[in-house]
Amino acid sequence: MEKATKRIMLSTPTMHGEEMRFVQEAFDKNWIAPLGFNCDNLEMEMTKYLSRDLGREYYTLALCSGSSALHLAYKLAGVKPGDVVLCSDMTFAATVNPVSYEGGRQVFIDSERETWNMDPVALKRAFEKYPEAKVVSLVHLYGTPSKLDEIIAICKEHGAILVEDAAESLSATYKGRQTGTFGDYGVISFNGNKIITTSGGGMLITDNGDKRQKAFFWATQAREKAPWYQHEEIGYNYRMSNVVAGIGRGQLLHLEEHKARKKKIYERYAEGLKGLPVTMNPYLEETSPNFWLSCLLIDKGCEVTPMQIMDKLESYNVESRPIWKPMHTQPVFAGHDFITAGDKPVDEDVFARGLCLPSDIKMTEEEQGLVIEIIKSCF
Ligand SMILES: *Cc1c(COP(=O)(O)O)cnc(C)c1O
Repeated sequence: MEKATKRIMLSTPTMHGEEMRFVQEAFDKNWIAPLGFNCDNLEMEMTKYLSRDLGREYYTLALCSGSSALHLAYKLAGVKPGDVVLCSDMTFAATVNPVSYEGGRQVFIDSERETWNMDPVALKRAFEKYPEAKVVSLVHLYGTPSKLDEIIAICKEHGAILVEDAAESLSATYKGRQTGTFGDYGVISFNGNKIITTSGGGMLITDNGDKRQKAFFWATQAREKAPWYQHEEIGYNYRMSNVVAGIGRGQLLHLEEHKARKKKIYERYAEGLKGLPVTMNPYLEETSPNFWLSCLLIDKGCEVTPMQIMDKLESYNVESRPIWKPMHTQPVFAGHDFITAGDKPVDEDVFARGLCLPSDIKMTEEEQGLVIEIIKSCF
């Protein structure tokens, strides 16, 4: 095996040319400011994309990042100082950080083995311990939809608001419906490594028009209706720029194609790694993940570690990455409660045995073949 001459990456932007057309239009009209026609159109086009086949209208709000969308979602959900928020434990810190911006307290919920997402059984236990909890924060990790029916039923039973972090799962569906449209508030990220990108950006989704308006108000510095600058609340500068919204409009034209290519990559790994003591990141039959990142899980009892594979891949100029390190093990969240369904945390085990593999849709079959050969050589 020869070292890859061009580095094989986890997930990088894939541009098609149409993006430039929308960006050029912004330049031609000298509309370089935040807000503007590309933002409006991106919101309309995303609304159309998310709402199709649903007979239900969703409102979208283009923002400067997925993180800012999450922050506004927690604000809309009414998180106040001291409030407990029941959060997915295995995720990127961006999911849960904004709870702290509002003074809320994260209580972390373990994963289950069938999707690696929040375990409904653990969530149920969490509500027994924290009956006062009013907000649940759920992530669809690596583009794999969570057990939404079970989680939503538990939220309903407890009158809790669901914030759905679909930052990684745009285009993934659960029983035919887009992730991000199940929660009271949904969040999408257009960060550079996501399935489509605006270089940096995000979006808030809600079926409540008044809430969308409130989020818009906060995102534009909370300017009251008055001829002068009048402020009665703390606001933020969270809007998306009209320039990068143009990139998003061009990218959206290729979303389904990106998803199909991501799926191919996952299937090639599943096929190529057959016979090794590993499995791929699992998903439910009734779901259609976007396969944002393909991950492997080394069988229990096998002596090979994810770090050994990562180091080996690195020596061949191939990028890979550990699974998101569970939030309850992060020093910044020391002392926060962590609820599991059984005796042993599932997500710590997935973290200890899992690895994210290169899932860049520009990766050639040959390059992926090399990645597979390197992994094989580790066993
Ligand atoms: C990327 C990501 C975010 C944050 O999105 P940004 O646009 O980078 O702010 C939030 N949650 C998850 C799970 C993510 O992967």
